[in-house]
Amino acid sequence: MKITPDECIACEACVPYCPVGAISMKDDIAVIDQDECVDCAVCLKSGSCPVDCIVFEPAPWPRSLRTVFSDPRTEHKATGIAGRGTEEMKTNDITGRFQRGWVGLGCEFGRPGIGTRFSDVDKVAQVLAKHGVAFESKNPVTALMEDVKTGKIREDVLGEKVLSAIIECLYPIEKFQEIITALKEVAKEVDTVFSVEVINRAEPDGSYPLRKLLDEMSMPYYINGKQCAGLGRPLADV
Ligand code: SF4
Ligand code: SF4
Repeated sequence: MKITPDECIACEACVPYCPVGAISMKDDIAVIDQDECVDCAVCLKSGSCPVDCIVFEPAPWPRSLRTVFSDPRTEHKATGIAGRGTEEMKTNDITGRFQRGWVGLGCEFGRPGIGTRFSDVDKVAQVLAKHGVAFESKNPVTALMEDVKTGKIREDVLGEKVLSAIIECLYPIEKFQEIITALKEVAKEVDTVFSVEVINRAEPDGSYPLRKLLDEMSMPYYINGKQCAGLGRPLADV
């Protein structure tokens, strides 16, 4: 995103709209820090500029990733899904990704309002890979991996900053505590925030095996029960 300098009237109306604080006033005009800007287009879409001097021109690769991961109107070509490019866990009743005995895990980077570079996503993905997870194939972060066995993200995108990105993977429930412990460790090396979400199917008696494991680790958790009403698609056979 750019601001045409000789048209800006320094009204500062656009500044508060930037979710990552990339717009500042310098020498009586607004400027966008191109390294911090995630090309989300919020400043442009806000319609806040009275002289229409905020302009967007599609960027070449790898910067083009910023818009794809940060502007929810943009479709991820790797998955054909807009927004964050994945069906996510909450549609499990339809996708049937997660069966009994398995844990689905998501790491959501950069929210709210901080953003993330792929270098941080890479650190966490490589740790998860060392613990033998299977990365979700219909996920735009997985599509950026050089090798899903190592979790290594391709070198040319590591410096790119986006509003948010989600790693999704699957592993046997026996590995749950080991993997959560590894995530706590790698979190110390990551220069952004990330939240961890886990899913497992309830047992026929209504119990959730993950609750016991989380209690054993004295980890606080927040049950987020979501039920998919179908979205016009049949329920998965699980
Ligand atoms: S495109 Fe998004 S990140 Fe860039 S300056 Fe505008 S609001 Fe900020
Ligand atoms: S809203 Fe437009 S005119 Fe006002 S500071 Fe931002 S870019 Fe400049």
